[in-house]
Amino acid sequence: MHHKTTIEPFRIKVVEQIRLTTEAERRQYLKQAQYNPFLLHSDEVIIDLLTDSGTSAMSANQWSAIMRGDESYAGAKSWLRMESVIKDLTGYPYILPTHQGRAAEHLLYSRIGGPGKVFISNTHFDTTRANIEFSGATAVDIPIEAGKHPEVYHPFKGNLDTEALEQLIEKHGAENVGAVILTVTNNSGGGQPVSMANAAAISEICRQHRILFILDACRIAENAYFIHQREEGYKEKNYRDIAKEMFSLADGCIMSAKKDGLVNMGGFLALKDLDLALKCRTVLIITEGYSTYGGLSGRDMEAIATGLEEVFEADYLNYRIKSTAYMGEKLREIGVPLIWPPGGHAIYVDAKAFYPHIPVEEFPGQALVCELYLKAGIRCCEIGSVMFGRYDEDGKLIPAAMELVRLAIPRRVYTQSHVDYVVETFRELEQERDRAHGYRITYEPPFLRHFTARFEPVL
Ligand SMILES: *Cc1c(COP(=O)(O)O)cnc(C)c1O
Repeated sequence: MHHKTTIEPFRIKVVEQIRLTTEAERRQYLKQAQYNPFLLHSDEVIIDLLTDSGTSAMSANQWSAIMRGDESYAGAKSWLRMESVIKDLTGYPYILPTHQGRAAEHLLYSRIGGPGKVFISNTHFDTTRANIEFSGATAVDIPIEAGKHPEVYHPFKGNLDTEALEQLIEKHGAENVGAVILTVTNNSGGGQPVSMANAAAISEICRQHRILFILDACRIAENAYFIHQREEGYKEKNYRDIAKEMFSLADGCIMSAKKDGLVNMGGFLALKDLDLALKCRTVLIITEGYSTYGGLSGRDMEAIATGLEEVFEADYLNYRIKSTAYMGEKLREIGVPLIWPPGGHAIYVDAKAFYPHIPVEEFPGQALVCELYLKAGIRCCEIGSVMFGRYDEDGKLIPAAMELVRLAIPRRVYTQSHVDYVVETFRELEQERDRAHGYRITYEPPFLRHFTARFEPVL
């Protein structure tokens, strides 16, 4: 029998209570948070779609591995286990543990960055860009054209534009390119996948020019699922082997285990080259911890080792990608404008199209984020002019390219009925569109203002 419903492939053994608030309470909480959901307390939230990072539910196997955590300072059993799982998965011989992804970025980019260097990516994640720019180097994004258009279908919308790559190498000189960084899946746009063919083409270009090729592999299991589904020649391969093939094309990787590691904290840097690994290890020992634990405790390393095995299980990945698509398809059916097709870990709503009567100067994305919270206690993140807007010399807003709202989906945390509740909320908001209003900023810090900015309604 063919089942239409993709069920969650797990039973729930431990539950975490959600406090069901009323709309009147939420109105009060949002006012106290000055209309910025980052300032809400988590127990004021019913469904938290702020991020998929570090929010996974761990399995019974991970929790039992935690009890085997070896907390020895050097050479702990838990380290040897994590190292061996990562070596086997990536094929890279040198593994450097860190407390999360950005720490691994710091180890690498502080050593190979610096003024005059250029880094090229399909899209640099914000902490990647920050680490590169902090070293004095420049970060350039070259996604393919389809990746810039929300409504255009492309099976691998996360791909890097290889023609633009060759032009940039010629322009800057291969010796000035610090690395090419391929982010899989491409985080911007909700985790759009990258094809194996694209990774292979980049690998070949980097090899010819002797340029370092690094994978930002936070969501490589989700990416493997898309390759299996959409790329010719991969139907017979399992997800783990697909990921291994992609690792084999690069010289190293950075991974935040808070994503496809299925843990709440952790990360690593893995490299092929001994000299580079030794250079990075010096920074590791200065800033993170000794080289057999980085910033991690033994129990964290056990949970990562088990998580990296579980994330490639076929039933898990099938459920993961299908449940993200389910939310996207249901929202699209009722006419909510989205980035299409859905990626692996989030759905992006086009708030400018949803609230066409709210001018960008009054932040339609922030308006939608606030309405979702007021109506149903759903917390999510604006990715538009609040996050990326700048000001010109006269203090006039230079808006972001798009006004998006991201619904990021924690792994193994919510069920289909939670998703149905989100869809229902959108149906109600659609009917009350005209009542929604914009916001103005009353306080903002000079950097990363979306985290701490304060707002008031424009009525
Ligand atoms: C989350 C993330 C990082 C940074 O990892 P942290 O664990 O948050 O420090 C880097 N790259 C990508 C693509 C990410 O999604």
